[in-house]
Amino acid sequence: MHNCTMSMPSIVSSPRGPGSRWWLPSLLFVAVGSAVMASWALDWRHAEDTMQSMARERGAALFQLVELARDWNARHGGVYVPVSETTRPNPYLEHQRRDVVTQDGVALTMVNPAFMTRQLAEIAEYADGVKLHITSLKPIRPANAPDAWETEALRRFEDGVDEVVELIPGPSPVHRYMAPLKVKQACLACHAKQGYTLGQIRGGISVTMPAGHLLAVRDSELVRTSMVHALVLAIIMALLHLLVARTRRHVAALEKLAATQEQVIAERTGSLMTANQDLARQVVERELAAAVFQNAAEAIIVTDDAGLIVQVNPAFSIITGYESSDVLGRPVSLLKSGRHSREFFTGMWHGLKRDGRWQGEVWNRRKDGEIFVVWLSITRIAGGGQPVRFVATLTDITRRKELEEKLRHQAYHDPLTGLPNRALFADRLQVAISQAHRHGRMFALCFADLDKFKPVNDQLGHAAGDDLLIETARRLRVSVRAADTVARLGGDEFGAILTEVGSRAEVEEVAARIVAELARPFELKAGTASISCSIGVALFPEHGVDVDTLQHNADAALYAVKEAGRNAYRFYVIGGAEN
Ligand code: GH3
Ligand code: MG
Repeated sequence: MHNCTMSMPSIVSSPRGPGSRWWLPSLLFVAVGSAVMASWALDWRHAEDTMQSMARERGAALFQLVELARDWNARHGGVYVPVSETTRPNPYLEHQRRDVVTQDGVALTMVNPAFMTRQLAEIAEYADGVKLHITSLKPIRPANAPDAWETEALRRFEDGVDEVVELIPGPSPVHRYMAPLKVKQACLACHAKQGYTLGQIRGGISVTMPAGHLLAVRDSELVRTSMVHALVLAIIMALLHLLVARTRRHVAALEKLAATQEQVIAERTGSLMTANQDLARQVVERELAAAVFQNAAEAIIVTDDAGLIVQVNPAFSIITGYESSDVLGRPVSLLKSGRHSREFFTGMWHGLKRDGRWQGEVWNRRKDGEIFVVWLSITRIAGGGQPVRFVATLTDITRRKELEEKLRHQAYHDPLTGLPNRALFADRLQVAISQAHRHGRMFALCFADLDKFKPVNDQLGHAAGDDLLIETARRLRVSVRAADTVARLGGDEFGAILTEVGSRAEVEEVAARIVAELARPFELKAGTASISCSIGVALFPEHGVDVDTLQHNADAALYAVKEAGRNAYRFYVIGGAEN
């Protein structure tokens, strides 16, 4: 049958064991850390870009300012300024009216765009530390030749780059900005002879700005964003840690709960399985019990506490002759044979109440009135919330008892005549001695031997001899009283214990009757036979008080009869004198 041993699913389970369960929080930590680091890197990059952008804007503004001033100057074909200590006539400027004098005698000199730029640069460097450098691919003034950085920038302008800005690190870091100067119409007025064409890149203006301030701003921004990110990271990690710890506790609690539930389930499953097994066993036992009940050779009677029959099996009907419908609801005493006393049944019920069981031999009566004997075994069944029941099994031992009786009879009786044999006679003699002794009564022991029996065998045959022995036994039985014992001791020798005699005279009477009975002719199938018998008598207690003495003396008396001519009886004579 099925049982409930299927495994129950775990509420919380990890297919790869507890060690692999926490890869998710670890991954979460790494992801969050990476995100914060990426954000921090982006902010870093943004700070760099911002600084670069500010440097570019500043450089571009200066460049445009200078370019505007140069354009303005070029459009005017140069401007005149008074000659001073800081503004001397430009030796590189080839112009017919480079130096003029006003009508009031003030000396003026022409300042061209390049010269003006140089002067603006000087002012800017003096004021802000900014260096402006106008450079040309074909410089007229040697100082305007490009340095290496500017040469590279000019090359990139040729490649189409509009402007270049770069942080030059070092003890005094600077931002360098440079944009190209393109040939305009106004420029050709002076520089056409250098071979320039309109729109061509003829040089550039580089702006070199101290980077200290912007770097400080950038560094401060980096510190700020680093601190913010570190703080954010710390807070997120702390929250994650709390979350993971709480989740772990929660999972642990769930696991504990699951384990407890699994244990409970296992226990309940175990109990259920045990109960099922018990149930299965009970079912099997009850099938089995029903089969035993139906097919048993023994009669089975189930009664209630009052002894009323509740159930019987088929064997009961076979043994007793009663159908179940005859007996259900009736007292079990209907089987009584009358052979047992009331005390016998009282003892049986007391034994049942005390021990819960009783067994023994009981004589019962069948429906047809026949007496039979059974080996009765009764068990009291109680408990389990069921009413009290008595289950009785009746094994019919009538045949066995008969066989036993037969064997016992054969052991103690002569098979030819059916009389007790010598062994039983000896027992009876002992009993007779005991009873006579107890009651102070007399009895007589008689030994009888047929006279001239051999010739019957010889003349009529052995079977006729047997018939004569059987008839002898019958005549002996009718010659004594019912309570007396007559036995065949062997051959043609018989014995009698006469207990129902009150005097010697009564013994003589019985002995004489026997002698007379056996002297009568025997009408046998084979013919008529005539014999006689000799009887020796010993009286208790007169001729002995024990078996041996009595037997010995009775034998002596018999011998005396034989000696004296047979066909008579004699009492034992103490001292050997004849009676
Ligand atoms: P006595 O007068 O001296 O007693 O002589 P008896 O012929 O009676 O012979 P005895 O008592 O000495 O011997 C008994 C005989 O009985 C011997 C035996 O042949 C015969 N006998 C013994 N048992 C049986 C028996 O069972 N059946 C038959 N037919 N004869 C038996
Ligand atoms: Mg004889």
